Amino acid sequence: MKGTLRNVRDGGVKTKGFLIVLSGPSGAGKNSVMNAVFPTIPNLKYSISVTTRPPRLGEVDAVNYFFRTEQEFDKMLQDDLLLESATFVGYRYGTPKSFVYEQIDAGNAVIMDIDIQGAAQIREKMPEAVFVFLLPPTPEELGKRLQDRGSDSEEVIKRRLAKSREEVKHIVDYDYFIINDDLGLAAEQLRQIILSEWSRVSRIDMDELSRVWEGGPSK
Ligand code: 5GP
Repeated sequence: MKGTLRNVRDGGVKTKGFLIVLSGPSGAGKNSVMNAVFPTIPNLKYSISVTTRPPRLGEVDAVNYFFRTEQEFDKMLQDDLLLESATFVGYRYGTPKSFVYEQIDAGNAVIMDIDIQGAAQIREKMPEAVFVFLLPPTPEELGKRLQDRGSDSEEVIKRRLAKSREEVKHIVDYDYFIINDDLGLAAEQLRQIILSEWSRVSRIDMDELSRVWEGGPSK
C-alpha cells in the first residue's frame, strides 16, 4: 500500500514498532495535525486515552476518548491497565497499556496525545520513544483558539492558558518541536519526523535482517 512503512518482511528489513508522544498546550491543534497525518501513514495508530472529563460537543466514546467515571478510572489503575496517567485541570487521563503493546509488537508506530506529566512517565519506561512538542504561534493566538472552540467555560479557558505557560517550559525535555501556525506545514513536519524516526537503523529488527541477508546466496 502506498505510504505504508516497511514493518513486515517487505524488502527483507523488518522494523520494530515504537511510540510517538505528542504534547502541547490544549488548543495547540494536536488533533488536527494528527488527523492530517493518519491517511498518509497507514501503520501509524492512535492510542485512545481514558478520561474522567465529560465529552465535548461532537466527541464520541471510544473514538476521541474512553469516557469513564472516577470509580472506573480507579479500577483501571488498580488493575494496572494504564501505561501512564495524570490529573489535568481537574480531570484524570490515562493511556490503556494493552493497545500500545499490541501495536508495538505488530511493528506499528503508535502516537499518543498526552500531557507533560504523562510524557515524563513514558520517558522513564520507554526511553526509545520519540517526544514531540506542538506549539501554538503565540499565547494570544492560543487564547483565541480556545475561545473560538467554544467548548470550555471562561474559567476553564483561564486555567488552561495559565497551565500552557507552565507546560511550554518543559519543551527542553522533548526531541522535536513543531510550531502550528499553518496546519498543512505542521502536519508535514510531523510526518517527516515520523518517517525519519522510522528510518533509524536502531529500529531494524537485526535478527530478521541477519536471517535474510546472511542466510547465504539467494536465487
Ligand atoms: P483535553 O481535555 O483538552 O482533551 O486534554 C487535556 C490534556 O490532557 C491535553 O494536554 C492532553 O494532551 C492530555 N491528555 C489526553 N489524554 C491523556 C492521557 O492519556 N494521559 C495524559 N497524561 N494526558 C492526556
